Amino acid sequence: MKVMKFGGTSVGKPERMHQVSQLITKDKEAKIVVLSALSGTTNSLVEIGNSIAAGERAQAKAQIDKLETHYLSFIKDLVKKENAYQKAKGIVVEHFEFLNIILKISYSEALNKDILAQGELLSTKLFSVYLEEQGIDHMLLPALEFMSIDIHDEPQVTSIRSKLSQLLQKHKDKSMFITQGYICRNARGEVDNLKRGGSDYTASLIAAAINASVCEIWTDIDGMHNNDPRIVKKTIAVEQLSFDEAAELAYFGAKILHPTCIWPAQQQNVPVKLLNTMQPEAAGTVIKQEASATGVKAVAAKDGIIAINIRSSRMLLAYGFLRKIFEVFEKYKTSIDMVTTSEVAVSVTIDNADNLKNIKKELEPFGLVEVEDNHTIVSIVGSEIAQTENVLSKLFDALTSVPVRMVSYGGSKHNVSLLIPSSYKIQTLQLLNKGLFGLE
Ligand code: ADP
Ligand code: ASP
Ligand code: MG
Repeated sequence: MKVMKFGGTSVGKPERMHQVSQLITKDKEAKIVVLSALSGTTNSLVEIGNSIAAGERAQAKAQIDKLETHYLSFIKDLVKKENAYQKAKGIVVEHFEFLNIILKISYSEALNKDILAQGELLSTKLFSVYLEEQGIDHMLLPALEFMSIDIHDEPQVTSIRSKLSQLLQKHKDKSMFITQGYICRNARGEVDNLKRGGSDYTASLIAAAINASVCEIWTDIDGMHNNDPRIVKKTIAVEQLSFDEAAELAYFGAKILHPTCIWPAQQQNVPVKLLNTMQPEAAGTVIKQEASATGVKAVAAKDGIIAINIRSSRMLLAYGFLRKIFEVFEKYKTSIDMVTTSEVAVSVTIDNADNLKNIKKELEPFGLVEVEDNHTIVSIVGSEIAQTENVLSKLFDALTSVPVRMVSYGGSKHNVSLLIPSSYKIQTLQLLNKGLFGLE
């Protein structure tokens, strides 16, 4: 059995959904197809939620109506037969009625999660109507019946596995299942989600749960590129990556993959393929246990980084100092990405400012605390990169004009990370494209 996940752009137009139906019927292998919301929908739902939270109900109503109009025109080109059209229309009306009811209820975080879930519910239901019209045998598998997270927002792997296997067992006669990416239930049983871009995570969790032969991530580009194609003009697809390399790239900002979506597939050793819906014949990127070669594979950048520097002469020769500092971050459930130390100072980076004030306050007894925001981590990723000849010299030769604030090298065998002011990000990625890959 395999998993095929299609992202927002891949289902964002009626003709794309038609193409997806061809891709999923190309071979006879049993499969679970994971769909995202149509492109732009989750962003619109976020805006609707924000308007409701701000008490701007008239604005929310206008945003809901605009989105409904989009769906009503989408279904006109999705299906041909009148009965299929009526069915699709019924689905659209039902979900927008729900949004209009929410408009009248007082706002809560839980309600907002319900709003955000509408995108994936709509895309899968509408796709199912199209498949039915085409006479393609399949079954809708509601993600809310098996996908769940615990009180720490971590996926409940054991429960997902057993619930999913029960559902599949119950429908043994089917060989094609369609389900929603992104959405899940939380520890309170409420509708929740796996954070933005979470459909990749859903796919990987399902692939691990069923020991899939492969987890295919179908998107709008032909695989993981060596650099961010939104920023750098000339980038090329990487043929093969190890799980470790892909996980580092995803975590450090390669948007093509959700930040933590690699580990479930890696744990069960399920290969992940990144493929292009618009160009299905392209080789894409294969992600598996082994790296294809050593050396630099790709660079990625993660914005919104805050650097915190703690300086104290008391640190000199003192043991237990780092532990005390790290305990403050642990207390506020804030993970640290980079660390550098000297005899009298420690610098760390975080990407979550929720508890910054409290963290700063609790660090102050340890020394002089300086906080700098608007930074970017640029990660240079490749197997055994730390042992690769000339990597550091090439890196710094390329970046002579960039004020590098921190360097992390040697912590992971697959990664060299640099902290730079965000205003230098574009320049840095361009310079690295030339210096490390010879691409301009
Ligand atoms: P989907 O909606 O299919 O999940 P995403 O928009 O989340 O698609 O991810 C695909 C996009 O990721 C690409 O269109 C590309 O702009 C962006 N991207 C960023 N970094 C990379 C990279 N290193 N390689 C490929 N794509 C990347
Ligand atoms: N629709 C969700 C989002 O836009 C999840 C996903 O597409 O992966 O974030
Ligand atoms: Mg995505």
